[in-house]
Amino acid sequence: MVTINSSIVKKVFKKIKEYPEIIIARHVGPDPDAIASTIALRDSIRLTFPEKEVYAVGLGVSKFKYYGILDKIDNEQYKNALLIVLDVPNLNRVDGIEGLEYKEIMKIDHHPAEDIKGPVDWTDETSCSTCQMIAELILNTPLKLDTKIASNLYLGIVSDSDRFLLSYTTNKTFQVVHDLIKASKIDFVSLYNYLYDRSIDEVRFQGYIAMNMVVTENGLGYIVIPSDIIKEYHVDLATPANLINSFNFIRDVLVWTFITEDVKNKVYKVSIRSHGPVINEAASHYHGGGHKYASGARITSLEEIDAFIKELDDLCEEYKRASISNIEL
Ligand code: AMP
Repeated sequence: MVTINSSIVKKVFKKIKEYPEIIIARHVGPDPDAIASTIALRDSIRLTFPEKEVYAVGLGVSKFKYYGILDKIDNEQYKNALLIVLDVPNLNRVDGIEGLEYKEIMKIDHHPAEDIKGPVDWTDETSCSTCQMIAELILNTPLKLDTKIASNLYLGIVSDSDRFLLSYTTNKTFQVVHDLIKASKIDFVSLYNYLYDRSIDEVRFQGYIAMNMVVTENGLGYIVIPSDIIKEYHVDLATPANLINSFNFIRDVLVWTFITEDVKNKVYKVSIRSHGPVINEAASHYHGGGHKYASGARITSLEEIDAFIKELDDLCEEYKRASISNIEL
């Protein structure tokens, strides 16, 4: 069994036990980790405490329907509820809580902390995913697990760690996965289709990015994707972010970014990944944030795009210079 910081897990469980009404929310534009952690926690609380009212809120995404159905609630009716926020540190990026007057907020998240802070707050930047944290919670408290809950958590962990490739995959990740599989006997190989099944349009679009990505001398890979291209390839605005990890391990590319035009919202959606330079501070200069090596941002003008690209390119240059002087020492 995974050994963890049991005092915070106990506090989280105590809060869950205390409230008859619980609303669980996650970030806008959800990925598998956000969706799976929300639904898995809801289902585990319902299974353990059938008398409680527990809802997972936020806009549903049809391609993630395998994980389960999200709930529609009347936000004005839950003034005494506990709001549990998963996988997001900033209140303005929480989906589905407009007008909700909850009694208390509790965050469980693996991003660097920002403005959400309740009396009980569990932030673990060393965790590969929020699903890893929810699995730790369930495996170390009386919260119940079934095959579906375990499958959801497994998919969230595999997806957010990019199949255990990213640096925040740790021995604890493998231990949690081991315990999940042992406790629930999930047939994990059969689950991969839910993460990796994709259309030929998306594969062709990946080819478009590969053919058009610019790589600078300092090791920045970048591409600005106009909305026409999104239409032409029959993909959607979430597709570039879904594909960005496929551009890992390109020799001499230290940082790579996809900048996608969103005409409807008059904004460019930005995904950034890094092999070395820390990028979340640069992202924060452009209405963004995230992890040290995996961030996102929102850019509003072409001038800002130029400045953003220059900032990332400078980061690469600095990083290379520092690496060379370390070798020389
Ligand atoms: P993405 O490239 O969309 O997969 O996002 C990578 C990481 O950055 C995720 O952990 C997101 O939660 C975070 N992120 C993306 N967009 C933003 C934003 N506008 N503000 C803060 N964090 C973001």
